Amino acid sequence: MEIKFDLSYEFVIPISYGSSEVIETGKWGFQKPETAFMAAPCQEACPAGNTIPQFLYWASEGRYEEALETLLKENPFPGVCGRVCFHPCENDCHRGQYDEAISINAMERYVFDVTSDHHPDIHPISNADSNQVAVVGSGPAGLSTAYFLRLLGHRVTLFEARKELGGVMRWGIPEYRLPKSILKKEIKRIVQLSIGVKTGVRVGKDISFEELDRFDAVFLSPGAGLSLSLGIEGEDLKKVWRGGDFLDRMNSGEKIRLGKEIIVIGGSNTAMDVARSALRLGSMVTVAYRRTRAEMPAIQDEIHEAEEEGVRFEFLIQPVKINLLKNKRIRVKFQRMRLRGLDKSNRPKAIPVKGDYLTLEADGLIKAVGEGVDLSWIPETLSQNSLIDVSSSLATSHPKMFAGGDAIDQPRTIVTAIASGKKAAISIDLYLRGCTYDDIFSKIRVGNKGALSMEAYLQGRNGGNWSEPKDMISYPQINTLYFEHSKRIEMRKLERNKALKGFSEVNLGLTSDEAKSSSSRCFSCGTCNYCYNCYFFCPEGVISLDPFHQTKTVDLNHCKGCGTCAKVCPRYVVLMKELS
Ligand SMILES: Cc1cc2nc3c(=O)[nH]c(=O)nc-3n(C[C@H](O)[C@H](O)[C@H](O)COP(=O)(O)OP(=O)(O)OC[C@H]3O[C@@H](n4cnc5c(N)ncnc54)[C@H](O)[C@@H]3O)c2cc1C
Ligand code: SF4
Ligand code: SF4
Repeated sequence: MEIKFDLSYEFVIPISYGSSEVIETGKWGFQKPETAFMAAPCQEACPAGNTIPQFLYWASEGRYEEALETLLKENPFPGVCGRVCFHPCENDCHRGQYDEAISINAMERYVFDVTSDHHPDIHPISNADSNQVAVVGSGPAGLSTAYFLRLLGHRVTLFEARKELGGVMRWGIPEYRLPKSILKKEIKRIVQLSIGVKTGVRVGKDISFEELDRFDAVFLSPGAGLSLSLGIEGEDLKKVWRGGDFLDRMNSGEKIRLGKEIIVIGGSNTAMDVARSALRLGSMVTVAYRRTRAEMPAIQDEIHEAEEEGVRFEFLIQPVKINLLKNKRIRVKFQRMRLRGLDKSNRPKAIPVKGDYLTLEADGLIKAVGEGVDLSWIPETLSQNSLIDVSSSLATSHPKMFAGGDAIDQPRTIVTAIASGKKAAISIDLYLRGCTYDDIFSKIRVGNKGALSMEAYLQGRNGGNWSEPKDMISYPQINTLYFEHSKRIEMRKLERNKALKGFSEVNLGLTSDEAKSSSSRCFSCGTCNYCYNCYFFCPEGVISLDPFHQTKTVDLNHCKGCGTCAKVCPRYVVLMKELS
């Protein structure tokens, strides 16, 4: 028999408003939802372990001060990194597999810029066993170590050979990429944590290395400040500059006249900064590099911007001789090269093409072929292969000495220098408390690429209970059906003609609307962002959310364990756990 409904009548579903509250229907279930955050691939790829989904969530809500404080827990330089970091986080962003990666780097910069007058709530913990630690060198590695050691309650004295703090960020990177005003703000925030600063003090000259012995622990971060030589005839001519010296003098405000045509040798960040600065000083610039564009060690953005600004590139050539001509120009003889096999560092080896040469003439040459570490003031026992030798915890062979940044064997970037500063601060804290390292590092790791969480360290250190590191979320675990396709938002740039007229910052950042849209594109992989899906879809109405205080509760007495919340969570934060 077919049942027919008379639809002309109002259709009524009987609901009891009282019974479910009284009857604990939750006891019927055999599984319960659990909210467990996971680590996102962007966080894992950021050497500093920035809590990216969380800061982007705050930014998407317009809560920029919270976003800044989230960043500062893991990295004291959001304003610097938001400008000059090579942003490996973006390469691994899950959104990149869906359409285009989130502009994490631009967002980091925006958060810093928009909160520059805010005094963040970042304070040292009270530490009854506070010790005296010396930090040598005030680049990103030394300043980060000092910052994190202060947060851990230790007393820090920072020794810097130069008159101003900042290392390469101060004397190397030009104003058009990293304005000094931004760097000053970041350094001021760090030093205000009561760090004792001794500028103009070169350890090994103004004070002896042995004098460091009066400290309970020492961190060495002298960087790699020695310009390497080409080892060719004519290298010492007046028209031949060292890249580091040129940038140093220019960044110190000296007026430099280079001439009409300049050749820059090298493919590093230094080479790109030299080339782009020379363009701004009115020269036509040719960069000569012995491998191809693909092997250039400079940050991709910089190579691209140099090309856009009009730097010319000659690949697969290497200088062999420089002559001074009667008209005061120079002639550079280059050997043509080709790539074959791999060298010790697994990069394609450049080998000469026999008998094949090229000659270029110019008004000057700037060599930027790499930097070495000045180890002359450091005991020989602490070094190996022209670097300071450290273990995985960044300890040297001297019991109370640690080292990091460009002076050790690690990639030479600002964010890796910051990461080494954080790791060293934790190692020093563990050493001073007589604890072992590796056990703790495995508990505070962010993913599997070496990043550490200072927040996790502080939680474990102060509370005594170390939580297990978060699992990584994979792309298939994101329910992309909930997201619309949208374009990645790039920073606006100064027009080429205006950019080349001076040293004004080239990248102009995001507008407030762009920042809002940019942060809202984030999937928030593995981190609850209060999208309310679970709240709306829960048939029992047992979920309560408070985005302001970042809390979520499930009334387990009335949750039947149907699993709807887990199914509708776009970001794999809610998982169903079987009840025993
Ligand atoms: C021109 C240039 C551009 C770059 N651009 C980028 C970029 O865009 N993005 C990026 O990620 N990386 C970039 N890098 C790399 C990055 O700057 C370095 O990896 C980073 O600065 C290393 O930090 P650090 O703290 O180890 O050393 P440094 O920044 O070199 O700082 C070392 C400090 O120690 C001081 N010092 C040395 N010896 C002594 C001593 N005996 N006593 C007291 N003080 C001492 C020095 O004066 C210096 O201030 C660039 C590098 C160069 C050279
Ligand atoms: S510091 Fe660099 S890698 Fe880390 S989030 Fe910022 S841009 Fe990405
Ligand atoms: S979508 Fe957001 S959380 Fe996910 S990887 Fe990209 S930036 Fe990180």
